[in-house]
Amino acid sequence: MAYDKQMLKDILDAHGACGREKGVRDTIKAYIAPHADEVYRDAMGNLIAVKKGTSGKKIMFTVHMDQIGFLVRSIGEDGFVRLINQGCINSARCIAREIRFENGARGVTYFETADKTVLTAGITSQFVDVGASTKEEAEAIVKVGESAVFASDFVEMGSRIACGALDNRICCAAMVEMFRAMQSEHDVYAVFTVQEEEGMRGASPAAFGVKPDLNITVDVTGTGDIPGAEANDVVMGKGPAVKVKDMYITVPEEVIAFLENAAKKANIKYQYEFAPGYTDAGPVQRTGAGILSGGISVPLRYLHTPVETVDVRDYEETVRLLCAVVAEKELPQY
Ligand SMILES: [Zn+2]
Repeated sequence: MAYDKQMLKDILDAHGACGREKGVRDTIKAYIAPHADEVYRDAMGNLIAVKKGTSGKKIMFTVHMDQIGFLVRSIGEDGFVRLINQGCINSARCIAREIRFENGARGVTYFETADKTVLTAGITSQFVDVGASTKEEAEAIVKVGESAVFASDFVEMGSRIACGALDNRICCAAMVEMFRAMQSEHDVYAVFTVQEEEGMRGASPAAFGVKPDLNITVDVTGTGDIPGAEANDVVMGKGPAVKVKDMYITVPEEVIAFLENAAKKANIKYQYEFAPGYTDAGPVQRTGAGILSGGISVPLRYLHTPVETVDVRDYEETVRLLCAVVAEKELPQY
């Protein structure tokens, strides 16, 4: 399949810091609405697209649309802006970076110390230069509470692409591709969740509203194929990973078997994910009286940095796997 590069770029480019998802929600809505029977949002801000089937069963996909970012915490008399982070940002990787505010303004992060042996600083210790010399000048550019994300380009390197928002916009785009191509007897819900990066806050309320027979969370997962990486068998370019376990879920065997079976029938190579982090799969599982829940993950290098990198072939195979999953007539039983 040839993927829709312009759609992916538009979804990557849209603003969607954690808790400030309006820009990305509007962008995804415009792309998915022509292929859905219904598109709505809930009070949390989750965007829900539905394609109706005839089986009476509901299969739901949770795909977070927020990304790690920042909020303006204060503005000093010297015109420097101070931030607080939204989501887990590795301090060592956020110094001397360009950031982009929701209103379009730009800034650069930095910190300075007399002790040159200090090489890192948390984002709250850094300052942002927005081109202002006084508080008044800075306040004309950004307000306290304004949200920001790392600025980053869309970089193509052979079959790989790099961009700061690939976690998890690559999977948001995969959902749109699935809606364009899929055939299913079931009601298919694509739930684009908010605030995953600050503790998976959007997914459970959305699941409570939908009450699906099966949830599959689609997100990215770190790989172990770079120098110095911690033990991790996931390799870029070897296909989507079927989640077995992360910090908040041990996926039920029947859900893993269901995904394996769908992949085998469609001749899709897959890997297994044992992630040290978390996705929306866990909180969905514990919603209401409990929901069958699992995950499909796109291998990604350099997680939570402005240079997150994926292999387009993994992306395309993930879309194929998603289409194979909704084409299954029998959902897992318990
Ligand atoms: Zn993610």
